[in-house]
This record gives sequence, structure tokens and C-alpha cells, in this order.
Amino acid sequence: MSSIRLRTPIPGPESQRWMQRRQASVPRGVYHITPVFIARAEGAILEDVDGNRCLDFAGGIACLNVGHRAPAVLEAIRQQADRYLHVCMHVTPYDGYVRLAEALNARTPGSFPKKTLLVNSGAEGVENAVKIARAYTGRPGVLAFEHAFHGRTLLTLSLTGKTHPYKIGFGPFVPETYRMPYAYCYRCAYNLTYPSCGVVCARKIEDVFQTVVSADSLAAVILEPILGEGGFVPAPKEFFEILTEICRPRGILLIADEVQTGFGRTGSLFACEQVGFEPDLLVAAKSLSGGLPLASVTGRAEIMDAPIVGGLGGTFGGNPLACEAALAVLRIFDEQRLGERARRIGELFEQVTRDWPERFPLIGDIRGRGAMRALELVRDRTTREPAKEETQAVIRQCHERGLIILPAGTYGNVIRLLVPLVATDEQIGEGLTVLQAALSAVTPSIPSPAASR
Ligand code: PMP
Repeated sequence: MSSIRLRTPIPGPESQRWMQRRQASVPRGVYHITPVFIARAEGAILEDVDGNRCLDFAGGIACLNVGHRAPAVLEAIRQQADRYLHVCMHVTPYDGYVRLAEALNARTPGSFPKKTLLVNSGAEGVENAVKIARAYTGRPGVLAFEHAFHGRTLLTLSLTGKTHPYKIGFGPFVPETYRMPYAYCYRCAYNLTYPSCGVVCARKIEDVFQTVVSADSLAAVILEPILGEGGFVPAPKEFFEILTEICRPRGILLIADEVQTGFGRTGSLFACEQVGFEPDLLVAAKSLSGGLPLASVTGRAEIMDAPIVGGLGGTFGGNPLACEAALAVLRIFDEQRLGERARRIGELFEQVTRDWPERFPLIGDIRGRGAMRALELVRDRTTREPAKEETQAVIRQCHERGLIILPAGTYGNVIRLLVPLVATDEQIGEGLTVLQAALSAVTPSIPSPAASR
């Protein structure tokens, strides 16, 4: 049975009425990808205010790995709501915060003693990781990568490597933030090819120490194990090995931003596990808490204890409801084997899209790991000119057909898959069929050899 059920054209009249009110009451800077207002959600389904049922391949931007309204998450929230909603960790501490900290200390990569700080959002997590790294090392500098996304607060925006639309009008940015190219193999900054390149892009950090910022001024290097907003770009394993080999002896901390990659998306609880990367500090958020606002910074105990008493915190950080929801998410991850499920979704994606590059000249690259998959669209496979308008058109076509899906990439030419991991094989297949139809509607496709036989 099909999951998508359209009763009106998208957007329907009710969504359109809400959109008018939204335009008048909410600043335009608060962007929206779809014109659809939501009435309810369940699993991988979103039902809009006009009664249309859409398939959700966006998961509220990577927040719903366990699906919308996961029963165990709802039950944990209900039980906590019956006890108390908020007391503040800095006034009267509570057990949920401690139990979640223990669980994250045990389950993040690295078998050394760890501690965890809880805050409200991914950006706040990154801000705190940088503060902690500075307090521990006594150094000011932070090095991030091109195409990185670390948040929208002024420090994290300074680390974010995409100008439009995030940075326009918001400068000056925070000093002592630096940047170098990421291992974006499809658009290699050095025009080399993996693996014959020897992942020299990671070694270029030594040039950065010579020409941009000295190693002993750097508190930390921050990186996403797979670029998220930057276009779902997995860096090769060697990238992490070389950076670790160069940074560790120089006392530069390594911060992994797993805000988008964490909690099963890539086939393991954290993406770092798959490349054998053990960061000093790891930031998680989004799918951590199954739909409530929460973020964590977990790291080596001695580093986490560097800020003095009272140096860390915030009123709502580690809210009791969000902590219980996150503990339920961890139980669901184990019981429903969401890591395996993410790998299976990745295989399905590979099977379905195998002949797409032959059929759609628009597709320049297909990549990803586990259920974190993407298509990069280009106008010309030789020049790799980004096909931004075409990408927008494909995404619009998907929305009109009832598939909620998101773009990504510095050039806006990537289509990314962030389907809840609890989606069934049928739902994955249905969504990919819609995506294929949308691609065909935007560009003339070459018929598949099987179909033309
Ligand atoms: N880091 C990464 C890798 C992200 O993808 C995001 C959000 N897209 C953030 C940080 C910021 O998270 P938040 O929006 O919760 O502040």
C-alpha cells in the first residue's frame, strides 16, 4: 500500500492560508524548504493541514532517526512529565542528566575516562566544545574546514564554511577562526584523485601552520566526519588518521561535530566509529533526543574538567524531558538495531540508483555512507558546473508528488536522504520512485537498458 496520499495539489488551500499568515508574522530570514504546514506525524509519514500524507525523507533535518513519535520516546516523555518538567541542573540536579551523561560517556568512541555536558542545540554544543578546548589548552585558535556547517550563533557561524545565505550581513565574525580545504574528493581542492593522492589534503595542515596560524596557537581542529549541510561528503579514513597523527603531538585537540551524522545515520551510533577516529571532544544533537531540543559535548574527562566551577551551563541545558527522550532513543537504537537498518537502507539506495548515472546526465556523483546518501547534480560532467536551479526543480517536483526531501551543498546542487531509519523497505522504495520521476520530469532521461529491451 502506498504511503503517499494526496487529496489536494501541494500546497493545499489550508497550507496556503497559513503561509500568508506566516509571511506577515515571521521574518523572511526564517526560511522554509516546503510550502506545507503539518498537522501530525508518525514514523516516516507527515500529514499536512489539508489531509495530504507525505513521505518524510528529511526527518526535521536529521532529527528523527527513530521516526516521528517513536512510542518509547513518547512514553519516556510522559513518565517524566508526570514527575517534573524543569528544575534546572544548576539549582537542584536530577538523575536523568547523570544517566544520559553516563550512557554517552560509555558509547562515544574512545575507551578513556569521559564526561558529558548537555546543552540545547547543535550550535550551543559546538560553542561549548570550543570554550572547553580553549580553557584546556590556553590557546585561542580554532581551525575548521571549507564547506563545514557548525551552526548559526556568531562563533559557530564563523566556523561555518558557506557564505550565502548564512553569513550575509552578520559580520564581523569571531577572530582566531581559520579554515582549510576538506577531503571533498569530487571537487578536490588540489585537483588530485583518491587514492593515488595519498590524501595529501590532510597533510596541507602543516602548510597552514607555516603560513596562516602557528600550531601552538591552535586549541582545536573541528570537523564533521561526513560533511552534512556541505553536501554529504564522506572523507576517507586516512584523512582522520593523518590529522590525528599531526595534531596530537602538537597538543591540538580534535573535535568531531556529529550533530548530523550521529545516532545511527551512517550505520553505527557515531560516524567516527567507521573510520576509527577517536576525537578528544564529540558534539551530538539532532537525533540524540528523538525530536526534542538537546545537544551533548562528550570528551576526555581531564579536558571536560578544564573550565572552572560555574564556567559551563545554561538554564534549560539537559532538560529532564529531553534527557529521558534521549535515553529512550539509545534503547530503541539497540532494540531495533538501527545501525544495521541504516546499512540496509544504504544498500537499497545503492541498488535502486545503480543505473541512474547512465540514465540521468545531471547526476555527477552519488555518495554517502549507511542511510546518509546524496546525489550531486551538475550541468556538465567535465566542468562539474553545479546544477542549482535543476536541483531546486527536482526537489519541488518531489514535494508536489508528496515526498519531503532536502537540498544540501555549498552550491545548492545536492539532494540528500535523511529518511527516518524506521521507514519500511516499501517506503524507501516508494520515495526513491518519486525521486526518479522528479529527475525524469526535470531532465529528459535516457531509458534504462532493461526498460528499452
Ligand atoms: N553542526 C552540524 C554538523 C549541523 O548539521 C548542524 C545543523 N544543521 C549544527 C551543527 C547546528 O545545529 P543546531 O541547528 O541544532 O544549532
